[in-house]
Amino acid sequence: MMDRIILEDIEQIKSNVKGDFFADKKILVTGGAGFIGSWLCDFLIGFGATVTVVDNLSTGRLKNINHLFSNPLFSFVQSDVCMFECDERFDVILHMAAHASPDEYMAHPIETLMTSALGTKRMLELARKSDATLLFASTSETYGDAEVIPTPESYWGKVNPVGPRSCYDEGKRFAEALLVAYHKQYGLDVKIPRIFNSYGPRLREDGLYGRALSRFIMQALSELPITVYGDGKQTRSFCYITDTASGLLLLTANQGARGEMVNVGNTREVTILELARKIKEVTKCKSAIEFCPLPKDDPKRRCPDVSKLVGLVGWMPSVSFDVGVERTVSWFKL
Ligand code: UDP
Repeated sequence: MMDRIILEDIEQIKSNVKGDFFADKKILVTGGAGFIGSWLCDFLIGFGATVTVVDNLSTGRLKNINHLFSNPLFSFVQSDVCMFECDERFDVILHMAAHASPDEYMAHPIETLMTSALGTKRMLELARKSDATLLFASTSETYGDAEVIPTPESYWGKVNPVGPRSCYDEGKRFAEALLVAYHKQYGLDVKIPRIFNSYGPRLREDGLYGRALSRFIMQALSELPITVYGDGKQTRSFCYITDTASGLLLLTANQGARGEMVNVGNTREVTILELARKIKEVTKCKSAIEFCPLPKDDPKRRCPDVSKLVGLVGWMPSVSFDVGVERTVSWFKL
C-alpha cells in the first residue's frame, strides 16, 4: 500500500541513491513481497527498472506489492526460491528471501537453512548464467553474541552452531562462504550487506519480521502489557527502512564492494527497555512493562561499525531513533 508515509520515504531513498545504475536494468528480487524487498521494488520500478519478484508468500504479503501489479515493468512469480526455475537473464539479483524473525525461523529451522543454502546456490547459478550482480541479504546475526562492539566486518563471530538461532545464523554464514567462493572461483560480482535490525512501515503487525519493535507497537496500541525479555538491558541498533534500503542499493551499484561483506545499520545502540519506554512515550499508551524470561542465546549487545560502508559509498544511515519510531508508529496507526 502506498500511503503518505511510504511515498515520502520512497522520495527519501531516491534522494540518497542515484537511480541511473538501475534504470533499464532487468532485476530479480527474491522475497520481493517481504518487508525490505518490497521497498526495493518500489524504488527500482520508480527508476524504470524491469522487476521480477519471486516470493513463496510464507512471510511476504501481496498487499506490500499489490500497487505494482498494474505496472508493465513489474511481474510476480509465486515460488519458493529453492525451486525457482527460469530461463530469463537478469542484470541484477537482489536475494532477500528468508525467514528473518527469530520466532518464525525457529518454527521452520530446516526451511530456514535450505533457503540460505539451496536458495542461494540457485541464485548464484542464475547470476553466473546471466553474469549478473548478486546482492545477498546477510545479517548481523552472523556475528552471534558479539564480543566486539561496535562490531566490524573483520570480527568472525561467536555463534552457537546447534542452538535455537543456528538455523538462521549458520545458514547465513554458509551462504556468505558460498558467495565468496563463487566470487573467487568465477569472478562473480557479489555484494554481501550484513543488515542490523531494520524497521519501519510494512513490518508485520504480528511481529513476523521485526519482532520486538513491531510487537511493542502493537501491544502499546492495544493497551496490552509490553513484554520485555530478561531485564531489558540487552541492546540492538535499529535502522530505519529508508536507510537500510539506501545502503543496499548503494552497495549494489558500487564497484569497490565486489566480494565484500559490509555492515548496514544505525550506530545508535538502544536497550530493549529504552525501546519499550520510547514506544510507550510515542503512543502515549498506558501499558505496563512486563518482564518475561530471556530466550536462550539472545545476543547481549548489537551495534555495527559502519566505517567500511562509509569508506565505500560515502554515506551512512542517519534517520534518528526518535524520528524512525515516530514514523513507524504513525504508519501502524493508519
Ligand atoms: N524481545 C523482547 N520482547 C519481545 C520480543 C523480543 O524483549 O516481545 C527482545 C529479544 O529478546 C531481543 C530483542 O528484543 O533481545 C530483539 O529481538 P527481535 O526478535 O526483534 O530480534 P533479534 O535482534 O533478537 O534478532
